[in-house]
Amino acid sequence: MLKNKTALVTGSTSGIGLAYARALAAEGANVIINGFGDADAIEKERSGIEAEFGVACRYSGADMTKPDEIAAMIADAETEFGALDILVNNAGIQYVSPVDEFPVAKWDQIIAINLSSAFHTIRAALPAMKKKGWGRIINTASAHALVASPYKAAYVAAKHGIAGLTKTVALEVAEAGITVNAICPGYVWTPLVEAQIPDTMKARNMSEEEVKKDVLLAAQPTKKFVTVDQVAAMAIFLCSDAGSSITGSLMSMDGGWTAQ
Ligand code: NAD
Repeated sequence: MLKNKTALVTGSTSGIGLAYARALAAEGANVIINGFGDADAIEKERSGIEAEFGVACRYSGADMTKPDEIAAMIADAETEFGALDILVNNAGIQYVSPVDEFPVAKWDQIIAINLSSAFHTIRAALPAMKKKGWGRIINTASAHALVASPYKAAYVAAKHGIAGLTKTVALEVAEAGITVNAICPGYVWTPLVEAQIPDTMKARNMSEEEVKKDVLLAAQPTKKFVTVDQVAAMAIFLCSDAGSSITGSLMSMDGGWTAQ
């Protein structure tokens, strides 16, 4: 379905981003993966995607807190592949702390990675998409783009921000053949979720099992984690012709969380 298209997924060395990259490659798109991690493990993923799906896969180590590195990543992708057809803004981190103890540097970092990086990628990628008359921009937001939880001030603020950015850009490019949407998952079992368990245990004085059941899945009526493959499948749908009338939408995939 996506043969001859090129997709860039920020934060795709792990978790949801890696699932997006693999699903896009499975549909025939060339992909650029991005993110941090062990160099050998990243190279194994990159070459594995090429071998398994018969597409070109490149890696960019651009840091999503650095606008100049983001601009260079998009420029390199366009030099090699022509316009980016699909841009998935997915890089994100979490930090859990009461707001009056929230480290200022963590606030700045979360806003930069989870929100501002999407502004920088979008502004750089849009001109070529407009020229082509086709494009898909998918932002990984969160249920936290719609509702809040305590102790996650920066994350919730950034995710509400990305919801606003999604709607605004969707309106600006509505007639250009480009759709802009956000996917809003509830709790997905990934390293990001696993990593916040110790901090939440500390902040709430709970055991690991209590954090899983009473905090993480407390708000998710299905009592099941969303899977990375389910999230990736939504992105593929948004890239399909069937998805071409969906724009400016916040697609909830949260086991009923935000229905409450
Ligand atoms: P993850 O930790 O598995 O992956 C995060 C990715 O972002 C990694 O590839 C990491 O290297 C990359 N990254 C971090 N800082 C970066 C930086 N400065 N520059 C470039 N890349 C950077 O996390 P995940 O759970 O897969 O989360 C992916 C996205 O999904 C995030 O935006 C997150 O907020 C969102 N999300 C996750 C859940 C969940 O429950 N896991 C739910 C809703 C939304």
